[in-house]
Amino acid sequence: MRINVTKSSMPPFHEYIAEISELWDTHWLTNMGVKHKAFEGKLKDFLGVDGLSLFCNGHMALEMCLQAFDLSGEIITTPFTFASTTHAITRNGLTPVFCDINEDDFTIDVNKIESLITKKTSAILPVHVYGNICDTEKISEIARKHNLKVIYDAAHAFGVKVGEVGVGTFGDASMFSFHATKVFNTIEGGAVCYSERQIGERLYKLKNFGITGEDTVEYVGGNAKMNEFSAAMGLCNLRHIDEEIGKRGKIHALYQELLKDIPGFRLPVIQAGIESNYAYFPVLVNESEYGVSRNGLCNKLREDDIFARKYFYPLTNSFDCYKGMFNPDGTPVALIASHQVLTLPMYADLTETDIARICNIIKELAF
Ligand SMILES: *Cc1c(COP(=O)(O)O)cnc(C)c1O
Repeated sequence: MRINVTKSSMPPFHEYIAEISELWDTHWLTNMGVKHKAFEGKLKDFLGVDGLSLFCNGHMALEMCLQAFDLSGEIITTPFTFASTTHAITRNGLTPVFCDINEDDFTIDVNKIESLITKKTSAILPVHVYGNICDTEKISEIARKHNLKVIYDAAHAFGVKVGEVGVGTFGDASMFSFHATKVFNTIEGGAVCYSERQIGERLYKLKNFGITGEDTVEYVGGNAKMNEFSAAMGLCNLRHIDEEIGKRGKIHALYQELLKDIPGFRLPVIQAGIESNYAYFPVLVNESEYGVSRNGLCNKLREDDIFARKYFYPLTNSFDCYKGMFNPDGTPVALIASHQVLTLPMYADLTETDIARICNIIKELAF
């Protein structure tokens, strides 16, 4: 049986059917209906945030969030992320300025941010990669000093807490993705958490064509609303989220146990003081010590129908669509990580047998 890097979690069939049956009475399928409203409320409680706006996906949430802050010029971000982060910047007519990452947790290296700030810088867009949380205190301090906005790509960090605090409360806003492949899904979906009420109002207009009244359209908005079926999926999946994360935690621990002490094979570390969501299991393969390259291992696993993924390779600053615009050598730590990283299968019902099979292949390949 083929094992993919992830497998979407779904609620029991009858639970979803019960949740959507009402829609056959109301025939209200989208445009902020009852499911949307109920889901929004439950999510705010779960994430511990005051302001939250639902979207059709995480990418549009991020794009419209950048637009809502009316940013200009340059945005400091990292290239070790999914295409969405960088595209959201460039699709807003803004220029990404790439900062390198930390070697240990892959988040933005806060010691390298200030040297990248210019008169044109208007915001910092850091990524909580793999659910690892950025140094939010230091980032806030830098932002305050230079009068910059901070918008987090928290697509990987759903349900993560720092002490008692939910990650959605950091910075001026945070984007979550509820894509089918994420820890928590609404099939497709996303949200922006924000602190300023005015941002919430702008987001609402932006995601609904800029319509402000029955006869008034005040903004050039788009369409990025979450529909009722996605909201219903969210309501169902949210009931099982603790169990879901618990299962992932066990898988994470088993991988750690089975893969320890392999030379040249670096395992992910859970940050101190963080309640993790175990979103991914990224390993780093050092070919000269392990004996086989990252690509070699990836291919070997594929021969056994195990589809690990190179998240994140290539770096966004070396994408074909940005050819000649950025310099990947300017972010050397990210560049090395992108050549060594392999994300192993991780999802709630990955079996112990499958994990053992994956780990055996990895161990047999080692020197
Ligand atoms: C998944 C993801 C997104 C985009 O979310 P979608 O819901 O797929 O549009 C953005 N940033 C990162 C880091 C992601 O992994």
